[in-house]
Amino acid sequence: MIFEACRCAWEGCIRSVRDAVQALLVLGATALSQQRTVREFVVINLSDRADGDGVFQRLAQVLDLIERFDPGRLRRMRRYCKRIYIVPGGASEGSYWRSTNACALHVNHILSDSVLSVAMTIVHEAMHARIELAGIRYVSGRRMRIENACVRQELEFAELVPESGPEMQEARMALARVCAGNSTGTI
Ligand SMILES: [Zn+2]
Repeated sequence: MIFEACRCAWEGCIRSVRDAVQALLVLGATALSQQRTVREFVVINLSDRADGDGVFQRLAQVLDLIERFDPGRLRRMRRYCKRIYIVPGGASEGSYWRSTNACALHVNHILSDSVLSVAMTIVHEAMHARIELAGIRYVSGRRMRIENACVRQELEFAELVPESGPEMQEARMALARVCAGNSTGTI
């Protein structure tokens, strides 16, 4: 128990330093980036794709899908997470940035995957925001429970959308990988 408490404190210290560095880098990059308000979210394009690629428009379609099938969820998401960063491609489709209380979405995911798949990613990351704002920190001992909660939200939302079987299957597989310990990052 003492070891667990020390580990949590150490993880919290590392996270605080990492968050501070990330916040500084993001604030610097934000000043040089395209920024728009899309469906009441502040969206900052940190990727190398220009607006001509339709990335903001695609994101509007994603938020419209959530509004259409689960408007109450979208209203709640605006309270938990007001910013969305569009970032260059990476290992995961999205992540929650605690330092700026923002959802980060990879540009290739936005432009190449289905609108529903991107919507599920936003739903997932917004749940991370909700959990963080409730004061529950993302430490290794809680990782599986937190990811379970986030994927459950994805699946709850996807059940409301017709023909969502493939995306739901993908979400279940991602969760299984985390449970099996095959992934060390967030999903
Ligand atoms: Zn996650």
